[in-house]
Amino acid sequence: MKIETNHSQTISAVLGDITTLSVDAIVNAANNSLLGGGGVDGAIHRAAGPELLAECRTLNGCKTGEAKLTSGYHLPAKYVIHTVGPRYFGPEENKPQLLASCYRNSLRLASLHHIASIAFPSISTGVYHYPLTEAVPIAVREVLSGLEEYPDIKEVIFVCFNKEVLDCYEKELCKLK
Ligand code: ADP
Repeated sequence: MKIETNHSQTISAVLGDITTLSVDAIVNAANNSLLGGGGVDGAIHRAAGPELLAECRTLNGCKTGEAKLTSGYHLPAKYVIHTVGPRYFGPEENKPQLLASCYRNSLRLASLHHIASIAFPSISTGVYHYPLTEAVPIAVREVLSGLEEYPDIKEVIFVCFNKEVLDCYEKELCKLK
C-alpha cells in the first residue's frame, strides 16, 4: 500500500527483508551498545559485513530514542541509521515519546545527509515487545510530520517482516486516504 503526501512524497508498507532494499538508507532497530544483536539488527550486520561492526565500535553506543549514521558497506543501501527503541517492559516512563524520537531523529539525520529514500523496520515490536497496536500509530504519525518538516525526503518505506505487521501498517495508512 502506498500513500502520497501533498508534496509528492510517498509512504508505503511492504512485506519483506529490509536488508535487500536499494534505498539511500535503512534504519536499524539496534540496542544501546550498537555492537549487534538479534532480529533485524543481526540481519543487517550479517548482510553489511564486518566493516559495519568496526564502524559501530567507534560510535560509543547510542542512547534510547537517539540515532547514529554509518555507511551501509555490502548492503544495497548506502547508509544505515541506527536507532534504539524503548523496551516495552523497561524502566523508562516516557516510552511513547522515546519511540517517537527514534523516528524523528532518524528522519532528521536522513535530511542532514541528503537522503531521499529511507526504509524503517517496526522498531521495538520484536524482542523489545512494544505492542504493534501502540507502536504503529506512533510510527505513522511521526513519519507524516517528519515528511512535512523535511520535504527533501521523498520516500519512506515501512518494511514489515510478516503479515501481522503489514496488516497493522496498512490499517493505519488506510486512515490517511
Ligand atoms: P526490537 O529489539 O527493536 O524489538 P527486533 O529486531 O527484535 O527489534 O524487531 C523489530 C521488528 O523487525 C520486528 O517486527 C521483526 O519481526 C522485524 N524484523 C526482523 N528481521 C527483519 C528484517 N530482516 N527486515 C525487516 N524487519 C525485520
